[in-house]
Amino acid sequence: MMRRKNDNKRYFTRMGTRKKVHAFVRVKPTDDFAHEMIKYGDDNKSIDIHIKKDLQKGVVNNKQTDWSFKLDGVLHNASQDLVYETVAKDVVAQALDGYNGTIMCYGQTGAGKTYTMTGTTENYKHRGILPRALQQGETNRIIASHTMNKNSSRSHCIFTIYVEAHSRTLSDEKYITSKINLVDLAGSERLKKSGSEGRVLKEATYINKSLSFLEQAIIALGDQKRDHIPFRQCKLTHALKDSLGGNCNMVLLTNIYGEASQLEETLSSLRFASRMKLVTTEPAINEKYDAERMVKNLEKELALLKQELAIHDSLANRTLVNYDPMDEIQIAEINSQVRRYLEGTLDEIDIINLRQIQEVFNQFRVVLSQQEQEVELTLRRKYTLIDKNDFAAISAVQKAGLMDVDGHLVGEPDGQGFGLGVTPFSAKPGKKAKSKKMFKEQLSTSARKEGASSPVGGKDLDFSTSKTQLTPSSKEGDVKDMLMRDRETSSIEPLPLDSPKEELRPPRPSTPPPKPVAFEDFKNERGSEINRIFKENKSILNERRKRASETTQRINAIKREMDVTKEALNFQKSLREKQGEYENKGLMIIDEEEFLLILKLKDLKKQYRTEYQDLRDLKAEIQYCQHLVDQCRHRLLMEFDIWYNESFFIPEDIQVSLKPGGSIRPGMVPISRIMSLGEDDQDKFSQLQQTELPEGPDSFSFYNAKVKTEQKHNYLKTMMGFQQAHRK
Ligand code: ADP
Ligand code: MG
Repeated sequence: MMRRKNDNKRYFTRMGTRKKVHAFVRVKPTDDFAHEMIKYGDDNKSIDIHIKKDLQKGVVNNKQTDWSFKLDGVLHNASQDLVYETVAKDVVAQALDGYNGTIMCYGQTGAGKTYTMTGTTENYKHRGILPRALQQGETNRIIASHTMNKNSSRSHCIFTIYVEAHSRTLSDEKYITSKINLVDLAGSERLKKSGSEGRVLKEATYINKSLSFLEQAIIALGDQKRDHIPFRQCKLTHALKDSLGGNCNMVLLTNIYGEASQLEETLSSLRFASRMKLVTTEPAINEKYDAERMVKNLEKELALLKQELAIHDSLANRTLVNYDPMDEIQIAEINSQVRRYLEGTLDEIDIINLRQIQEVFNQFRVVLSQQEQEVELTLRRKYTLIDKNDFAAISAVQKAGLMDVDGHLVGEPDGQGFGLGVTPFSAKPGKKAKSKKMFKEQLSTSARKEGASSPVGGKDLDFSTSKTQLTPSSKEGDVKDMLMRDRETSSIEPLPLDSPKEELRPPRPSTPPPKPVAFEDFKNERGSEINRIFKENKSILNERRKRASETTQRINAIKREMDVTKEALNFQKSLREKQGEYENKGLMIIDEEEFLLILKLKDLKKQYRTEYQDLRDLKAEIQYCQHLVDQCRHRLLMEFDIWYNESFFIPEDIQVSLKPGGSIRPGMVPISRIMSLGEDDQDKFSQLQQTELPEGPDSFSFYNAKVKTEQKHNYLKTMMGFQQAHRK
């Protein structure tokens, strides 16, 4: 019954609007029609049933005596002709337009289902829906005979007519398919369960269980809220799966008796009909494409368009352009063009046609992804990259204190960890932190490796030479300026401190020393580590710059030599052409001199490429080192500022409260504190301000420093918030 979908054909359906199932009732002709009990509405679209009190005994529930059923039409004493016109004609006509259709006859045995569906063979006038539908579908062809189904009243009979309609014009690749299901259901009568008391409503069951499943499926279909329909419960519902509801036109014809004695079954049949009316379907057209016809049509069109293109080319005086797909050699040529273009040895790529333009773009992508891989490979060979999403690795590095604010590893000229998230400030400068020691160790190893270490505390911090200062803060400017102005001022000799816990710090002088002088002290004291790292990075940067400049010079020299060789080669070539060429079996004969020049040029090109690659690598390293240097400079100045305030401005007693364990830390605050620096801390700070400020005039500077620090914290907090939100 079910036909498999042909997978070779493209298939789609055009959705229509939702439609209700059409429900008709056909009453079997009788001389004994129960006029008092069965009444039709004026428009012939409803049936009213009335049961007399005395008949009600044991029939139906003892309260209700009247029922009214709304239908789409009642067929009383209707001819087979009229039944077909009313019930089936539209469904069949729509099937020829591509809509699936289902017509079902329901009712108790003997009520006329088979008569309606198949009719009688003897009498042409009495033929049923099936032969008429076949006739309508085949138009002029008359169906000579069809097998009469002698189905038992206990079995269902489904006829399926498959329709496939092609257009008469052969070029039309679209065609429609549909099917019409004509269903002669098994008798719907129920078996009475004999109860002891006749007056109680008897429970009844279907003779045929599948009808009960059909009803369940139909009830589920009528309920808009349900999305599961139990189609798989029996063969009947399974076979009608795509014909009940769904995307087809559906008609239910209920056959009933008109006699009073059959009223109970009639009532149950009418109830089924009214339930069926609630089901909605969405008829949709089934259009398919004939792949063979479609290919033929497209081939025709393609040939036509090629001709058209050739005409256009000749009209535009264009030489013959090949529009065929490119072969490997052509693609390789485009790839080399793109490479030369990127290197700068080719000025432009000529446009030939659309296909070529697309291939150029494609090769750009190929070259780009290759270069990306190369860069990553180069970086991986030199650095250990940490995946930004590998939080475990990041936190490990953070714990070790190897990263600065911007996620760059500090103290490592080799520079690990690209573009990491926000990381804590360094450990407290005044405290000999473990992390500090660690990066010191790493630094000395790497310095040895690079052979670029220089004496600590040297005077090579030269702000004026740096062209790319990333964060030129005002503080940085201050020091820079003062450094220039007060260069000659002598520094203050460091003296031993009285506090054993504190690092060495000179006793506080009455007037603070000029910043540039203090800066030199700072570099020898608390800032020695960061200054050392700074210098390390700088010397590596300078070394790379030097190498880059040497490589550039070498490249230029090679380029000059290439030019000279090319010129000599051209001269040889022109000489050969003047003397007349020698040819041997299609091979050009050239003299040794020219041959050697060709070899030389080839060698030079190779050198050129190698050097060029080196230069590219160097440039990437320079960029990275420059960034590290900028980071270090920034840190150095920032920590100096804090150190300067702590050493010369903040009163000693306030410093006590700023010690670890105290609530406030001027300057660098550990990451855990930044996170928790809320209103409480700020309150404490303002209290402190009120109590300390009036007494200590020096604390004005501290106040300023503190405010700046607060601002920095707020900024950081916000930034961390952003980053965290971004990661989610
Ligand atoms: P069912 O298929 O519902 O069990 P049938 O179609 O076999 O019932 O009908 C039983 C008998 O009644 C058949 O002999 C049939 O010819 C006759 N019959 C049913 N409906 C009509 C009708 N509308 N006009 C004339 N005869 C009918
Ligand atoms: Mg029958």
